[in-house]
Amino acid sequence: MNAGPLTMKLKLVSFDADGTIVDNDYVNSFWFRELPRLYAEKTGIEFTEAREVLTSHYDEIGDEDIRWYKPEYWFERFGLEKNPEEVIERIQVPENVRLYEDALEVTESLRGEYRLIVTSNAPRIFLDYALNQIEKRFYGIYSCVSDFGEVKKGPNVYRKVLSRVGISPERSVHVGDHWKFDYQIPRKLGMRTFYIERNGGVVPKEDGVLGDLRDLEGRIKEMEN
Ligand SMILES: [Mg+2]
Repeated sequence: MNAGPLTMKLKLVSFDADGTIVDNDYVNSFWFRELPRLYAEKTGIEFTEAREVLTSHYDEIGDEDIRWYKPEYWFERFGLEKNPEEVIERIQVPENVRLYEDALEVTESLRGEYRLIVTSNAPRIFLDYALNQIEKRFYGIYSCVSDFGEVKKGPNVYRKVLSRVGISPERSVHVGDHWKFDYQIPRKLGMRTFYIERNGGVVPKEDGVLGDLRDLEGRIKEMEN
């Protein structure tokens, strides 16, 4: 009888979106370029002044408040009579949405063998445009703000996502670029987690730290053996 160690086939690979699959810049271009431009147009003030005004309003609400994440809230608050979806659609031209090459490659190579999902705190309105070109690779795209009413990816968000996909934490991997919300929190639940270092610095030799997402497949195979 084979008394060797049990192997554990992993089933699910979850990706963070902003800073992991897609460059954050597309989000900044909405908050710090397009909204101030619209506000300057409406009020007749200079663009730089409009940007300062809006930034102080953003700071006043703060990222612990779910309204902070919602374009429709800000359109109403600033009296912008436009449809947020149309505005986002107009600025989400391909050159504004830069998908990381390693993310494109690794999702393509893992999709046949694992169920792939996205677990993000970006509102769905942004995720839909950002991931438009590759959405078919994912079994599900989950936004903690839009789907669960939570501003941060806390333990409950991961629990709910796993229950929706019906896979246990032990058979699941999550990768992202935030040390606390992508690496530590899901790891505490028993998920296998990886941290992607995008800043080109020295990659710490810690367990689960990646300098390139293309290394993910090899690391998953090591875990399974
Ligand atoms: Mg991120």
